[in-house]
Amino acid sequence: MATDCIFCRIVAGTIPSTKVFEDDRALAFRDLHPAAPVHVLVIPKEHIASTAHAVVTHETLLGHLMLTAAKVADQEGLAKGFRIVANTGADGGQTVDHLHLHVLGGRSMTWPPG
Ligand code: 5GP
Repeated sequence: MATDCIFCRIVAGTIPSTKVFEDDRALAFRDLHPAAPVHVLVIPKEHIASTAHAVVTHETLLGHLMLTAAKVADQEGLAKGFRIVANTGADGGQTVDHLHLHVLGGRSMTWPPG
């Protein structure tokens, strides 16, 4: 755990969140500033700063996060489709330095993103 990390503090329960899924390795909770009718963040409980900081020993965990994102989308009723986003680094638009997948849905998405 990184004590100065907002998402580690959400995992620890010292910052409240609206959880939609949790298991031993992952946590999914609603984004504080939703960009779509459904906007859930899926994070590893282990602190990994970004996808660029992931290493080969995280391979199974990364797969688990993707499957968790799909499970959350199903749970949220996003049968018509959804988007999974992993902003990475400053130019990628990452603002919280704890790896996370955005699961966005409930409206039609456009491409390319801004
Ligand atoms: P990023 O910009 O790093 O890809 O995404 C970070 C996301 O975390 C943003 O969409 C932001 O709204 C969300 N966020 C930041 N702080 C909090 C918080 O304390 N609680 C929750 N639930 N979401 C947060």
